[in-house]
Amino acid sequence: MSNSVGSSSPRFAALETAGNRKSRQCDWATDSVKLVELFGSNTFSNKNMKEKLPKKTYNQLQSIVKQGAKLDKTTADEVAKAVKDWAVEKGVTHFTHLFQPLTGLTAEKHDAFLSFDEDGLPIERISGSQLMQAEPDASSFPSGGLRATHAARGYTVWDPSSPIFIMEKPNGKTLYIPSVFISYDGRSLDQKGPLLRSMEILSSRALAMLKLFGNTTATRVTPSVGVEQEYFLIDQAFYNLRPDLVAAGRTVVGAKSPKGQELEDHYFGVIPERVQSFMQEVEYELYRLGIPVKTRHNEVAPAQFETAPIFEGANLAADHNQQTMETLRAVARLHGLVCLLHEKPFAGINGSGKHNNWSFSDSDGNNLLDPGKTPAQNLQFLVFLTATLKGLQKRAGLLRAAIASSGNDFRLGANEAPPAIISAFLGEQLDAVLNAVENGTLDAEISEERIISLGISHIPEVQRDYTDRNRTSPFAFTGNKFEFRAVASSASISTPMTYLNAAVAEALEEMHGVISGRVSDGIEFKKAVLETVREAVIETKAIRYEGNGYAQEWVEEALRLGLPNLRKSPEALAELVKPESLKFFSRLGLFGEEEVQARYHVQLERYIKECNIEVEALQDLVKTQILPAAYQQQELLASSISSLMSALKLGPESEPAKTQLAQLQQCATGIAALNSGLAALTAKMAELHHLDDLAKEASFMAEEILPLMLETRQVCDGLEETIADYLWPLPKYREMLFIS
Ligand code: ADP
Ligand code: MG
Repeated sequence: MSNSVGSSSPRFAALETAGNRKSRQCDWATDSVKLVELFGSNTFSNKNMKEKLPKKTYNQLQSIVKQGAKLDKTTADEVAKAVKDWAVEKGVTHFTHLFQPLTGLTAEKHDAFLSFDEDGLPIERISGSQLMQAEPDASSFPSGGLRATHAARGYTVWDPSSPIFIMEKPNGKTLYIPSVFISYDGRSLDQKGPLLRSMEILSSRALAMLKLFGNTTATRVTPSVGVEQEYFLIDQAFYNLRPDLVAAGRTVVGAKSPKGQELEDHYFGVIPERVQSFMQEVEYELYRLGIPVKTRHNEVAPAQFETAPIFEGANLAADHNQQTMETLRAVARLHGLVCLLHEKPFAGINGSGKHNNWSFSDSDGNNLLDPGKTPAQNLQFLVFLTATLKGLQKRAGLLRAAIASSGNDFRLGANEAPPAIISAFLGEQLDAVLNAVENGTLDAEISEERIISLGISHIPEVQRDYTDRNRTSPFAFTGNKFEFRAVASSASISTPMTYLNAAVAEALEEMHGVISGRVSDGIEFKKAVLETVREAVIETKAIRYEGNGYAQEWVEEALRLGLPNLRKSPEALAELVKPESLKFFSRLGLFGEEEVQARYHVQLERYIKECNIEVEALQDLVKTQILPAAYQQQELLASSISSLMSALKLGPESEPAKTQLAQLQQCATGIAALNSGLAALTAKMAELHHLDDLAKEASFMAEEILPLMLETRQVCDGLEETIADYLWPLPKYREMLFIS
């Protein structure tokens, strides 16, 4: 580290690079791009299928997609041929199955279409069986010991409900086949298989309920999801100089910027030009992939932004969100930016979440969480609404586990994110409706007027309740859907959506049983329904919370109400393997016990590894960058003091010398604290390595190591505020967050 001012310091050079960066303009931007032509142009869409497939095959495939039927070999072969022809026409050379292993990322392995005919001439080919399934060398994916115990290999199978697409990279095109990943004995090794299962589970229970209400036309119920994705953008030059961001995705040290988000001037502000160019290129890429991105805006924290699509079926939404994250990352690089998807890249300002707007609708297009216009619709709405609340209440621990990660721990329960306590916000009107249901006397004459007088039909279709109270809820009703806000920004939505679907399915099944029981006891249908709803309202009172979720009173109140407050991932993840959870998973046919144990194991391991990386990043930064800068500062002060004392013939007790000696003392104390902090961390890490079980290691990490890291960080941040700017090697918050 040079101590001369100017671009000889890597940090100053980065400042210069970032400051001089221009917006990137793409070739296509000067043509007038027609959105509707662009949309889906790189997907094997219905339009393409219709053109390329025999009518019979096309219809078969459609019913497979709509009804969730199995793909037979003949259809698969025909589809494979059509897909290949389409892709080759577009200059594609390779194909890959795309899947979501338990790491939460996506995985792919590419193969060329290349084959040889009988005469040894090269041809392009993909068979139906290659299209349907592939065998990646699965041994390196985390499986929580599943494959080891069963000596079973994994394979990927095409999920026909998610369109095949082409990804264009500067030097070639690849065909992507969205797939699920399972072991040979049928256990799921990914996040998507369980999501698809949960959708079936929810569909069957919701359909049964609709049948009770006399619905004869619906054939399927599908959960829909619209994902609001938050992210940060910083200049790549800064990123490259931050080993913590590179290794861990978040800054493990960094003093607060003098300006943070207190002026509230960023949210919905004018999007910086360079960022907008980036967003437009992201959207261009996403449109080609048939991903219906709709909104873009600045978020609350400086350098934080959001993109959201139009909602889709849960499995498509999950796939599309994975692709959106990949695209954000890849396109950012082209703009000299880095997209940070971590939940808490910077301390002291808002973190990022991924709000999952969730509802479910029947195959006739009716949103089942949409309050209806007629009394019958209202009753039905109340059933689906209270079933959702019941599911949320009964499986709150599992839903908390579904969003657990080392990154999300920094966000949940901090003063700007939903608390780790799972509760639901309904809004004033609906809250009043449920209170009325609870207090209403339910006699035999439950009349149409009575139901109308509940006032459900007056609930506005889109309830844009942006009060602070609403924002602080992890699970808020927004007119015709719930918004699950506590989901981690970097995570796949598959697991939270899987558990939510299953939890609501379970509640629907239970309520179905109770209503049918009452009806067969001779109770009139409407009365039977309302009684059941009323019980559900009473049962779920604890989880309904209309107040400020950030307030300490809520934490205390929740404790009184018996709601779980699982603050850290290790305790949240432990919910997965409670006997009650295992029963729930297996009864619904979602997971067998081994699958749950495997998932628990993988998640704990991941948590430990992520924390471990952060510890190492911190140790490395302190040793190789912060201490050396502090030593230089110490030297600077010491020589300044001795020059001062000798030039002015001052003793150490003189006022001028005393002031500077105090500064020197402070610097030396900081250095000592860093050295002892490092030693303490090393000792604790050694203790951790002696623990014999993953759950213990994870808790130890959360309870013992992370607090130590924080102590060390505070010393670093104190030093950052006193060390000469030209000596400080790491890009500062004020630079990373405000230079665009
Ligand atoms: P905001 O939350 O800013 O008010 P919107 O209500 O328009 O924004 O929608 C946020 C997200 O919710 C969008 O992705 C939107 O497509 C999605 N959404 C709207 N209706 C539904 C629904 N029925 N099911 C799932 N998601 C939905
Ligand atoms: Mg929203």
